[in-house]
Amino acid sequence: MGDEHVKKAAILSIGNELLSGRTVDTNAAYIAGRLRSIGLPVVSVHAVADEEGTIERSLGLAAGEADVVVATGGLGPTDDDLTRQAFARFLDVELVLRPDLLEKIQQFFDRRGVAMPTRNSIQACIPRGAAALENELGTAPGIRAERDGKLLFALPGVPAEMRHMLETQVLPQLQPLVSGQALAVRRLKCFGAGESTIAEMIGDVMRRGRNPLVNCTVHLGVITLEVVATADTQTEAQEMAEREERSLRSALGSLVYGVEDQTLAEVVGDRLRRTGRTLAVAESCTGGLLAKLITDIPGSSEYFTYGWVTYSNEAKTRALGVPVATIATYGAVSEPVARALAQGARRTAGTDYALSITGIAGPGGGTEQKPVGLVYIAVDNHDGTETSRHVFSFDRGSVRLRAAQTALNILRLRLDLTGPVSM
Ligand code: ATP
Ligand code: MG
Repeated sequence: MGDEHVKKAAILSIGNELLSGRTVDTNAAYIAGRLRSIGLPVVSVHAVADEEGTIERSLGLAAGEADVVVATGGLGPTDDDLTRQAFARFLDVELVLRPDLLEKIQQFFDRRGVAMPTRNSIQACIPRGAAALENELGTAPGIRAERDGKLLFALPGVPAEMRHMLETQVLPQLQPLVSGQALAVRRLKCFGAGESTIAEMIGDVMRRGRNPLVNCTVHLGVITLEVVATADTQTEAQEMAEREERSLRSALGSLVYGVEDQTLAEVVGDRLRRTGRTLAVAESCTGGLLAKLITDIPGSSEYFTYGWVTYSNEAKTRALGVPVATIATYGAVSEPVARALAQGARRTAGTDYALSITGIAGPGGGTEQKPVGLVYIAVDNHDGTETSRHVFSFDRGSVRLRAAQTALNILRLRLDLTGPVSM
């Protein structure tokens, strides 16, 4: 199945509050996730103002690139709710008052014992020829219309109403459209190289229009490659995604640390647990963040035993035996101190592995030789100690997080090297 035959959807999020940033467009995220889960990928999300002409033009754009358009918002009874009118204009028909819908809205108010404000009767109007979608939770019915073979839906902006109507009415109507179109999604998590390096290593698989499609996102050094395969059947799509995963893995080697939502701490913890190894950490500039990441994982007590925050020079010496002379000669942020910290931690804790971090998180404290962001990391086990020098950028928070993540990655690679123990 080529990409051009894949049925796609577009989302229209309508409301000034979305454009001012007052409301985060969670509806689009929800709709996109649900459409994808039934095998209908979303090609665009348009956030538009409460303006009839703007909504009408955006409907044109959305319908121009997708087979299905799902709009949300602007179905209220006030003058700034113009989705209905825009749909009618786009369909080139008039709005007609549907007595059955009016009756339902009337009943909605009756049940609450309040008189229906006259302006609510606009909500009983839908474009001629379109179908109404029942709203069990509110007053505004939705709209289902067709134009040039494209399916158009309008749902309320209130998230609970939108979700309920999407689940009970829109998705069931879309199922037949996507039968014979299956989607399989696989996410590969990478750490240890920038996105351009990774892009170079995997060649042109990220080019658009390809099936499987490979999307790339970066968050705090973790690169996520998302493989989206489309095929006629779920089995086929799954196989395509798996083939792609194998080829990405062989191109990227040990840069791939996990899949789906796995974190480095999870992967490292899993390996330590499975091989019955233990870990201690000694941290300076990360102030406990490394231990925090490790102990975020349930069951970490099986392998994590000790963590020291040796922030001052004195602490490094008194708690972990870093020689005063080493600190005096090389400074606290140095390769020999990182080494001594890791060795001291492993010796004192009696663990199989120890990690240490010493660095300058900033914003102050940097010099020409030792800039802000300079971090030394050491890993120690019975094979010896390995140290590395890094310079991380941005603010204090990211320097610290990148340092802790990098330490976990170094341990991951060391664990790979050692392999599982025979038990
Ligand atoms: P109605 O729901 O009566 O049809 P409407 O659709 O325009 O009217 P609004 O009154 O504009 O609804 O919004 C109702 C609530 O839903 C507001 O709290 C608004 O912030 C929220 N909302 C609207 N659109 C979105 C969206 N895309 N994502 C998240 N929340 C939204
Ligand atoms: Mg609105």
